[in-house]
Amino acid sequence: MDTEKVDTLIIGGGLSGIYAASLLAAGKKSLALLEARPRVGGRILSPEYQGFFTDLGPSWYWPMINPKIENLIQVLGLKGYPQFETGLGRFQAKDGHAETIAGYPMDPPGWRLSGGMISIVRRLCEQIPRDVIRLNHPVCEIQRLDKGIQVIVGRHDQEPKCRLKASNIILALPPRLAAGSILFTPDLSYDLTQAMLRASTWMAGQAKFFALYDKANWRTTGLSGQGFSLCGPLGEIHDGSNGENMPYGLTGFVGIPALRRKKREIMIQAILAQLPLLFGQEAGQPVGIYYQDWAKEEFTATEYDQRAAHNHPEFQPPSGKTSIWDNTFHFAGTETADDFGGYLEGALSSAERAVSASIQSC
Ligand SMILES: Cc1cc2nc3c(=O)[nH]c(=O)nc-3n(C[C@H](O)[C@H](O)[C@H](O)COP(=O)(O)OP(=O)(O)OC[C@H]3O[C@@H](n4cnc5c(N)ncnc54)[C@H](O)[C@@H]3O)c2cc1C
Repeated sequence: MDTEKVDTLIIGGGLSGIYAASLLAAGKKSLALLEARPRVGGRILSPEYQGFFTDLGPSWYWPMINPKIENLIQVLGLKGYPQFETGLGRFQAKDGHAETIAGYPMDPPGWRLSGGMISIVRRLCEQIPRDVIRLNHPVCEIQRLDKGIQVIVGRHDQEPKCRLKASNIILALPPRLAAGSILFTPDLSYDLTQAMLRASTWMAGQAKFFALYDKANWRTTGLSGQGFSLCGPLGEIHDGSNGENMPYGLTGFVGIPALRRKKREIMIQAILAQLPLLFGQEAGQPVGIYYQDWAKEEFTATEYDQRAAHNHPEFQPPSGKTSIWDNTFHFAGTETADDFGGYLEGALSSAERAVSASIQSC
């Protein structure tokens, strides 16, 4: 088996990995990005319905406090629009009884992106040479050599698919997932491994639902599309409509913890029974339905993520380290960011930090 050699190897094709690749692609060093899934985007997932992109991962950015995302959206020529929040909200008690309540606008205001969040990734990919991104390339081992690093691609229980060598690597995936699924030689220190395992992967335990409609009937009855429920299955609901035109949408997070969630079809039926109680009969008859259980995704969630994290953790580089192995191994990924860890903003800042360390180490 031939071993390809590159200057920099990026592991993970989510926003942080793809953004890092787009920054490095402008330079002269050779580059490869290994992505386990058959698609790029990672936690960004926006399936298309008749030209509209439903965000089943992140759907908001906050222009007032997310300067990097806001700037990237402008630079890439993309357009955002404010989350629709006009009108009253709905609240469902534990016994299923629903009542109308005052609206509760986001503070600071959240914005959605025309073309879905995946349009950021798509535009960035246009700046990366085609042969750089290798889909279906799960990394299972990372070995430090006398000179440089070797990465083995494949499954632990199968023959390796290929090997690549690099002068330096950027690990652009959740630290917990990396510590739980990749073998490191030599061993990472006990403290670093524990810190990586403890860094919960933001939203990895969540499931998200999107229902599309030709009309936004809830709006005509004075409702904003916002809802909170203590009985579920959806715990939090928002208007997920297209900016100016059809389709209209209701989207929400499942409130039932991953361990207690039933099969997809059963969950969808239960959600379709819940929506009319909150937003009227028509809400139970969408023209399109999407459901994504992130806790079941092997390239996002681990066993540790099956219990939901309720508060936003204070993320930071694992064990305070941004690079290891004599500055040849750099951490990226939103859970390693100093600020806005867990968010898209943190994915960008962690990528910028790793790219600048990688350029210095080459
Ligand atoms: C339901 C949900 C809602 C969210 N809402 C928001 C929001 O509204 N606003 C916001 O700012 N953020 C939100 N987030 C968080 C946001 O999605 C993340 O901050 C961001 O997408 C993380 O990007 P990343 O590149 O750091 O990680 P990831 O997107 O997780 O990328 C890691 C990549 O590594 C790949 N990979 C994994 N293992 C391997 C391996 N062994 N070998 C090779 N590749 C591998 C994965 O397939 C993936 O592509 C949400 C997330 C979810 C799930």
